[in-house]
Amino acid sequence: MVTWAYTATSSNVFDLEFRCKSCGFASPVKVEAKGAGYQGGVASRNDAAAAAKVKQQAAVGAQRWAEIFVEFCPCPRCGKRDEAAVGAYKLKSWMVGGVSAAILVAGIALCALSLVFAGAAVALLGCIGVIVAPAMAASTLSSARKKVHFPVETARPTT
Ligand SMILES: [Zn+2]
Repeated sequence: MVTWAYTATSSNVFDLEFRCKSCGFASPVKVEAKGAGYQGGVASRNDAAAAAKVKQQAAVGAQRWAEIFVEFCPCPRCGKRDEAAVGAYKLKSWMVGGVSAAILVAGIALCALSLVFAGAAVALLGCIGVIVAPAMAASTLSSARKKVHFPVETARPTT
């Protein structure tokens, strides 16, 4: 049972560089991204350390998402996306989903062995992973174009 929990979200605009592997188009971009952090536990808490860690997690998460969005953004000039990166990301998401499914099975097995508390916690964790991983993969790919902002002049298609 979690008796205390800290959560934090970080929303930021990052200045990154977009580079197209197909046509060589490059442009500075501004990327909106959000990250979240969470710390919870049952033991006595350390307020300052936990709060700082959660904020740090959120900031690191936001930065990572910004980089992912740039990687998945279709090129504004040739319209191509880095299919290798997209393929690798999809594969990874399926692996996370698969590992989560395995955790879920392990949790159910632990429940059956009447280690109910540990089993339920493990199963819940697996369950969240199974639901979240594929859904996140789909929404990340579709939202990448909206999160990455090109300067207007360079975003016009050149023929
Ligand atoms: Zn391109």
